[in-house]
Amino acid sequence: MSPAQEARIDPALAPWVVPIGAGGPLVPPGRPAVAADVRQWRAAAVPTGTTAQTVLVASSPDLLGQRLLVRDAARRPVSSTTRWVQPQTGQAVDPDTFVAPGTDLAKQIALAMASVPGSRGFGVAQALAAWSFTTQGDGYFEVVSGERVLGFAVPARYLSAQGVAAAAVAIAPAPVPAAPAVDCAVAKCIALTFDDGPSQYTGALLEIFASYGGQATFFLLGSKAADPDNAATLDLMRAGGHLVGNHSWDHPRLPQLSSDQVASQLVRTRDALAPWTSGTPRYFRPPYGLTDPMVNGVAASLGYPVILWSVDPSDYRHTEPQPTVDGVLGAAARNAIVLSHDTLPATLEAYRQIVPALVSQGYTLVPLDALIGQPAPGAVVRYGN
Ligand SMILES: [Zn+2]
Repeated sequence: MSPAQEARIDPALAPWVVPIGAGGPLVPPGRPAVAADVRQWRAAAVPTGTTAQTVLVASSPDLLGQRLLVRDAARRPVSSTTRWVQPQTGQAVDPDTFVAPGTDLAKQIALAMASVPGSRGFGVAQALAAWSFTTQGDGYFEVVSGERVLGFAVPARYLSAQGVAAAAVAIAPAPVPAAPAVDCAVAKCIALTFDDGPSQYTGALLEIFASYGGQATFFLLGSKAADPDNAATLDLMRAGGHLVGNHSWDHPRLPQLSSDQVASQLVRTRDALAPWTSGTPRYFRPPYGLTDPMVNGVAASLGYPVILWSVDPSDYRHTEPQPTVDGVLGAAARNAIVLSHDTLPATLEAYRQIVPALVSQGYTLVPLDALIGQPAPGAVVRYGN
């Protein structure tokens, strides 16, 4: 590009490039929040090999904006489009009307795109198809280009009166619920943990927690977390304030592997969990609780404490709920860490009794961080302090 061309780019339109990797936020920290309500994310049509999710980006009696994000099996974004409708009539609203007539926005977008080395060219039509707003009142669009997502904020001076009105009803992203401020020195805490999921039973388990209050910790397998069919469950897990931990990629006996293989198990899972952990999950639990100095060393190198448990009802041995109910309630104690598996139907049935029973006994059901904070990397933890 010639210096003369470069000088004509509106600097406010300079794009940022979002690495796709295994997923994660499309807008990096420091950039304006995209108008989106993550609480509204829900599974939509799921074409073979992809997941499609919708998010409400603007809402008023006169205008609804809904974004559709499609990801491939590796959770890489494939496309991002936004649909605008008049809610009373259901009539589509052309996002072209959000742009002030007579601006050189089309040229600016083309120039901005051309400033990104290796980016695939596209025009204002594609930008408008993905049109949204930031909560600062600017326009916003993102496009998937090869291995990257490019995000652009469009200054309000490019907007028409209708565009300014639409930006005014943009919805701020809901903050990820903070861990409840429970002080386990005061409250009678217990940490319920579930391994090997997510599974077809996890959603119903989350509903139990939603009904009675409290949070759990889920040590997930990366291979299952990466399954697009489980994305909606993980969104619910995150929305419910539960904690997610790393339980390896596919549940091998880690001491039998090389340290490189152990590291690969943990790193692949860490990356698969990234969309639901705001970064790195903070806890690691080895499959079968099998660990040794080599495994602890790999965990330490990745910043993980090694989380075991103090109460094991051996739920995997039971096809009926009652032994698990008895095992948990019989051994429940303040600051205990309870091991179970959200992959077993009998365990789900058991927790329909266990959760209300613990709550009625005065326990606060807390995610692990409320109970143990952040232990040193490589430290082996069996119960809270
Ligand atoms: Zn396991």
